[in-house]
Amino acid sequence: MFNQSRRNLARWFTLSMGSILVVFAGVIYYQKAADELEELDRLLYTKTRVMAAGVESEVRQGQWQVNLENVPLLGSNPPLPTTEIVYARWYSPKRKLMQFFGTTPPERLTVADEFQTIKTTNEPIGTMPSEVWLRQVTLPVEQAGSVIGYLQVAMPMTPVQESLREFLLSLTLLVPVALGMIGLTGWVLGGLAMQPIRDSYNQLQRFTSNASHELRTPLAAVLSNAQVGLLVPLDPQQQRNHLEQIVEAAKSMSTLVSNLLLLARHSGRLAPESLKEVDLTSLLKEQADFYSSQAAEKQLSLKSDLPEQPVKLEAEPDLLRQAVENLLSNAYKYTPAGGSVQLRLFTQSRQAVIQVSDSGIGIPQADLPHIFERFYRVDTKQSRQAGGFGLGLAIAKQLVEAHGGQISVTSVVGQGSTFQIELHTRKVTEEGY
Ligand code: ADP
Repeated sequence: MFNQSRRNLARWFTLSMGSILVVFAGVIYYQKAADELEELDRLLYTKTRVMAAGVESEVRQGQWQVNLENVPLLGSNPPLPTTEIVYARWYSPKRKLMQFFGTTPPERLTVADEFQTIKTTNEPIGTMPSEVWLRQVTLPVEQAGSVIGYLQVAMPMTPVQESLREFLLSLTLLVPVALGMIGLTGWVLGGLAMQPIRDSYNQLQRFTSNASHELRTPLAAVLSNAQVGLLVPLDPQQQRNHLEQIVEAAKSMSTLVSNLLLLARHSGRLAPESLKEVDLTSLLKEQADFYSSQAAEKQLSLKSDLPEQPVKLEAEPDLLRQAVENLLSNAYKYTPAGGSVQLRLFTQSRQAVIQVSDSGIGIPQADLPHIFERFYRVDTKQSRQAGGFGLGLAIAKQLVEAHGGQISVTSVVGQGSTFQIELHTRKVTEEGY
């Protein structure tokens, strides 16, 4: 499934980037052709102007008399030191052919544009093939404001064609190489893009299998107790025991399902409209009061160190209460009789800090990085006896993060643990006590 998606991603990436590349190469080729042609036109124009400068004329009997003697190629003077010119023609102002060099031209001048590209099918000229592309310019030559004739000159386009052919060859070699590299990049990027999806898919699978595993034990208890109750006639006391075990198993399942729902509902940041102004001092005081009665039952001492002043922030009070409750109940679970639990609240640089410390069994260093993972339990006698699902800390972390806060832990085995919640607050009324 993942490889298929990765292949699709790479294919679409290559296709889209490849199309852009081909269009880009086309534009570059077109630009190169235009530049080369412009260069050739400039050269042709310069040569033609040099030739036109050799035209001499005078008015005789009201008519322009043109003397082409000094015009290179057309006159008897030595030709231009170049063989690039294929033909040169001189037409009268009435567009009639007067003189030419090179291939035999039409008798009359018919062209309208200054520059023209012409495909010749004439006799082979020198070493050139019989079919060549020529660039031709036709310039009106003026003297004293009136046109005394037209000079038409042509050059072969072979250098332009050769340069473009070479350029096209490089493009045809480079484009497939670039396409290959794009494909490879697409494959690598596809892999990178798939990684978080693969991770969350694996996490979801682990989560589902853990949840099913946790549900299996209470379900089996319900089933076996119900089956015994149905099969064998029991006395009322035994019947009651079985029913009580069914109730216990159902309670355990109900807790697990509520925890799972809590995790499913509150992933990501809470919507601002669900937040209200909460006084953290009074919220924690209520919890401290509730837990101090339980502390006595377990022969534990609970110390609370809360500020006098209210510490206000934007929060969802029930969820925040749940997060602190999970930490407090763990502290109680994992602290043997005679130990102590401390609940503190203070502010530091715009953060409200809640600390739950205990003098309990502590958490081994190796387990600390995993402690907030779902269904993670430290393999100790106490945690087996406590019978939790390993979801309490994962829920606390998710709820704290839903408020934009952070949770952390420090612990020393045999000495105790300290869990710390930091919540960002713009509304702390008193700072630095
Ligand atoms: P559980 O429901 O199993 O307590 P938690 O997610 O709350 O699940 O805790 C995960 C594990 O972390 C527990 O199994 C326990 O071993 C360890 N733990 C949590 N809090 C404490 C603590 N205050 N002292 C020692 N160990 C703790």
